[in-house]
Amino acid sequence: LQDQHIPSSNLKICVCVRKRPIFTKEEAQGEIDSISCSNPRVLVHETKVKVDGITKYLENHTFVFDNTFSEKEDNATVYEYSLKPLCPFILGGGTVTCFAYGQTGSGKTFTMKGLQSMVVNELFSASKATFFVSFFEIYGGKCFDLLNDRSKLQILEDGNGNIQIQGLVEHTAANQTELIQMIEYGNSVRTTHATTSNEDSSRSHAVCQISLKQKNIIVGKLRLVDLAGSERAQDCISNNRQRRIEGAEINKSLLALKECIRALRKGPDAHVPYRGSKMTLVLRDSFEGGSDDKKVIMIACISPGHSSSDHSLNSLRYADRLK
Ligand code: ADP
Ligand code: MG
Repeated sequence: LQDQHIPSSNLKICVCVRKRPIFTKEEAQGEIDSISCSNPRVLVHETKVKVDGITKYLENHTFVFDNTFSEKEDNATVYEYSLKPLCPFILGGGTVTCFAYGQTGSGKTFTMKGLQSMVVNELFSASKATFFVSFFEIYGGKCFDLLNDRSKLQILEDGNGNIQIQGLVEHTAANQTELIQMIEYGNSVRTTHATTSNEDSSRSHAVCQISLKQKNIIVGKLRLVDLAGSERAQDCISNNRQRRIEGAEINKSLLALKECIRALRKGPDAHVPYRGSKMTLVLRDSFEGGSDDKKVIMIACISPGHSSSDHSLNSLRYADRLK
C-alpha cells in the first residue's frame, strides 16, 4: 500500500479522511488518542470500558480511502492533494463540490476555512473571468443568506427543473483580497449569529459558492460545503420537539447526500435522488447534468479521542459507502 498522498485529479469522487490532533485539554481529561492514520489507511482502536467493572476490551477497525490525512498534515497539505489538483478542471468549466463531513468539533470548519483562501488565490491568479461569491446556510430545511443580513431565501424550481434560490445575493469581487474578505465575513456571521440565538452552527449546512463568469456565462464553479455536525442527525429522537425536527432534517439530508454522490459515481444515466432533502435539492447541479463536468471531494473529519470513537466510526462508515 502507498504511503504518499495522491492528487485527486483523476478521480470523479475523491474520498478523504482527516484526523485532527488531540488537544492537551482532552488528554488532561483522560482522553486517549484512539485513531492511527497511515495513508491511505485509518485504524480505529475502539476501547470499551464496561460501566460496572474494570473490564476493557479492544476492537480494531480498518478503512482505506483515496487519501487519509493524519494529525501531522496541515491545511496546505490537505489542499495540495484535494482541491488544488482540481483547479484546472474548474478553470476548464467544470463544477467541483467539496464537502466536510463529521461530528461537531472534528475540524470541518477549520478545514474549510483553510481551503477557502488557498483555492481563491489559486483560481484568481489563473483566470481572467469575473468572480462571484454567494454564501448561505441551510438550517432546518430553510436557506439564509450569510452575505445579506441572514435574510431568509426561497427555493424555487422552474418548469425545466432548474433550482433557484430566490433572493440569494451574488457579490462580485474586484480582487482576491475582497473575495476572501467576503467569505470571512460569511464565516463570522455564521458563528456570531449562532451564539445569540437558539440556533447553533452545528445544526446548519453552510454553502460557499464561487462562480467564474465570462459575459454572464458560467465558466467554472466551486462549492465548499461545511456540513452540519453528523451527530445532530441523532437529535431526531430528542425530547425537544424543535431539536427533533431539526435532527430529522439533518438525518434526511446526510442520507440523501450519500445517495446523490453514489449516483454521480454510477454515471450519467443513474437516477439522482436530489429531492430527498432541501440541501441536495439546492445542490442539484453538483450531482447531475453532464457526466464529466462534475467532481466531488468528500473530507470526513474525525476527532481522535476514544470517547468519540462511535461517532468517528459512523463518519468513516459513511465515507466508506461513497467509495
Ligand atoms: P467543526 O467545524 O467540525 O465543529 P472545528 O473546525 O470548529 O470543528 O474544530 C474544532 C476545534 O479544533 C477548533 O478549535 C479548531 O481550531 C481545532 N482544530 C480542528 N482541526 C484542527 C487541526 N487539524 N489542527 C489544529 N487544530 C484543529
Ligand atoms: Mg464548524
